[in-house]
Amino acid sequence: MACRSRGGFFPFLLIIADALRLRQTAPSYLPAASATIIPAGPLRAPLMSQDFHQAYPGIPLNPRTCGIWARLTRRPAECVHLPSEPHWAATLVPDTVYLRGKPAHSRRPVRPEVSLCRSCLLGWLRSELASHSAQVIALQPDPESFSQYFFLAQPDFDAAGVMPAVAEALESRFDDFSRPCELCHSPSTWLCIGRDEVSSLDDWGSIRSAPGHPRCAAHGAAWFCDFLERIPEVNLLYLNLPYDGAGAYLWF
Ligand SMILES: [Zn+2]
Ligand SMILES: [Zn+2]
Repeated sequence: MACRSRGGFFPFLLIIADALRLRQTAPSYLPAASATIIPAGPLRAPLMSQDFHQAYPGIPLNPRTCGIWARLTRRPAECVHLPSEPHWAATLVPDTVYLRGKPAHSRRPVRPEVSLCRSCLLGWLRSELASHSAQVIALQPDPESFSQYFFLAQPDFDAAGVMPAVAEALESRFDDFSRPCELCHSPSTWLCIGRDEVSSLDDWGSIRSAPGHPRCAAHGAAWFCDFLERIPEVNLLYLNLPYDGAGAYLWF
């Protein structure tokens, strides 16, 4: 899927794109930007990450992609279905965010990077997202052009390179969780904003004013996963999980 050109409007997107390339070779020690972010560790950090089967119980991973050589070469493990279902694949990096172009971890032990088919990803993701208490503003990507879908906690907006006008628009919505879930009337922790309301991250005026759909965590997770499930072909290069108290799912 296409990324914006280097002359595009979102420098933070380019920073993350560069970071995805950088993390192949340049783990780093960074000052933590938000309360729970832990700087990425030294080169041996991937060996210290959580066991695949503890991190992803029930997901059948190809044993050849889980070995020591795959980890040393930093190739993600793959579920056994990917070779026969190459039209839909997502790289899950649950506990990693990219701040000032460098990886940082939001959790220990860090769950390892995996590439999953639609069924394996969404089966795992629905319950994980539903169990988070973070306040999430979720902007729905363009299904034709997104290749990364990532959560940033509010304290990390600046370090991740989010443009100030976009950050301010998002921050203005964190006071907007007084409406109950529109489906079950429980307290809402998600504000889901569809493509019909905000079609581009350039449009911070609409980010600030779009009504959105208040959802509880379970129904927010369903909104998020149902959207991914409906897309016939996906090559998602980076997906992480919420962390910290409040933040946003952004995309490019
Ligand atoms: Zn699978
Ligand atoms: Zn609900």
